[in-house]
Amino acid sequence: MDKNSDQDFRDRPINIDASGQRKRINAKQPKGKWYTRRNIVGYALILFLVIAPLLKIHGHPFMMLDILNRKFYIFGLMVFAEDTYILALVMAVAVVSIVLFTVVFGRLFCGWACPQTLFLELVYRKIEFLFDGNGRKGKKKRDPSNTSTIRTLAKHTVYILVSIFFTNIFLLWFIGPEQLLKIITEPVGAHLVGFLIMMALSVFYYWVYSYFREQICTLFCPYGRMQGVLLDNNSISVIYDYKRGEPRNPKVSEGGDCINCLQCISVCPTGIDIRNGSQLECIHCAACIDECNLVMKKISKPYNLIRYDSVQGVEIGKRSLLNTRSVAYTAVLVLLMVILAFTVGRRTTIDVTLWRAQGTLYQQLDSETYSNIYQIMFLNKGNEPLELTLRLLDFPNGELSIADNKVVLPPNSKMKEAMIIKLKKGNLTGRETVCKIGLFSGDELKETVTTNFLGP
Ligand code: SF4
Ligand code: SF4
Repeated sequence: MDKNSDQDFRDRPINIDASGQRKRINAKQPKGKWYTRRNIVGYALILFLVIAPLLKIHGHPFMMLDILNRKFYIFGLMVFAEDTYILALVMAVAVVSIVLFTVVFGRLFCGWACPQTLFLELVYRKIEFLFDGNGRKGKKKRDPSNTSTIRTLAKHTVYILVSIFFTNIFLLWFIGPEQLLKIITEPVGAHLVGFLIMMALSVFYYWVYSYFREQICTLFCPYGRMQGVLLDNNSISVIYDYKRGEPRNPKVSEGGDCINCLQCISVCPTGIDIRNGSQLECIHCAACIDECNLVMKKISKPYNLIRYDSVQGVEIGKRSLLNTRSVAYTAVLVLLMVILAFTVGRRTTIDVTLWRAQGTLYQQLDSETYSNIYQIMFLNKGNEPLELTLRLLDFPNGELSIADNKVVLPPNSKMKEAMIIKLKKGNLTGRETVCKIGLFSGDELKETVTTNFLGP
């Protein structure tokens, strides 16, 4: 069957040719208000990424995902793996927010906040512009015959240094500055695993941003593939006004406003032609809007032939962010956020887990006294140390012994102790006697735990 080459974009990713080979995309540097705004937002986000894991609140990290120790610091709030319900709620809020945001604003996240785009477009692409020229000012430098080995080597050296830097920033989020400093400053043998992970990640970063690049978005990212289900005619996206633009004609005075200059394609980081409609490769970065506006200015036509708009906006000139789907997702999101705020607000600072020592039932100490052995785990989720004493609440003549009869818990810490309860025969209500234990800080009852005491 004959293929119309104009329709090739429907058959395969734009950066793969008919023989299956990759077509490298050398996007020109955009220029315009959207590019300026995107730079401001992007660099602010990169700054947050770099600074957030270095900040401390009450001596604890502001942001850190300490997977090894199963502790997470989120905006200064410490969440233990034991707080799984909070983590699950945070995840649910994040997922619904992404869905809602996509339904209303399309893939704005991809072009403005996704780390892949931020690093590729605002860091590595800028380095490339610096060394190779950007096609706007440096056409000669872009000429392959003008490629200098020294310049290429220098560019890749900078790529490698930047990759190592961002690998270290990435690791900061998981191991914190103190541990990272040890890996960097102490002998390699003392932190061999950490050092190897750092090296492997640096190589991976370098490979992704110097070679693989936009293929992460066009071939791998699942989010781009979800847009077919999430976007509808009311979703805002980068869109070409075909009503105004068609029929394309290079002669300004003839045809529509599109003069088929292809400048919108030349700046596109994924190499697509936005005039073909919504495509999964489009990351909504708005580079084509800026570039087309420059063209419109030159040919004295109204701006925004390509713009942020919805299909409805282009077709009937009406935009509506409020529709059944966006209202429903907003309602779910608000509900989840209320539940999350309520759950965080009610979160206690102490968590206690009590279980019977493995393989034990009860011990008869004399004709009147029985004992049970337990393991007890304390979790202090607060930022202050806690000194706790434990008392049996219902049996004044019973005995509870643990460590030095008090437990001292540093802030944000866990501690496991053995505990023995002794009860008199007269206290027992059967084979199992319900036993309440109070955890006191001074005279203040902080927490109560209940267990079964086994008897004959
Ligand atoms: S930059 Fe504007 S005028 Fe030029 S091809 Fe793209 S849409 Fe048409
Ligand atoms: S089509 Fe436009 S908005 Fe989409 S990725 Fe290309 S330049 Fe960015």
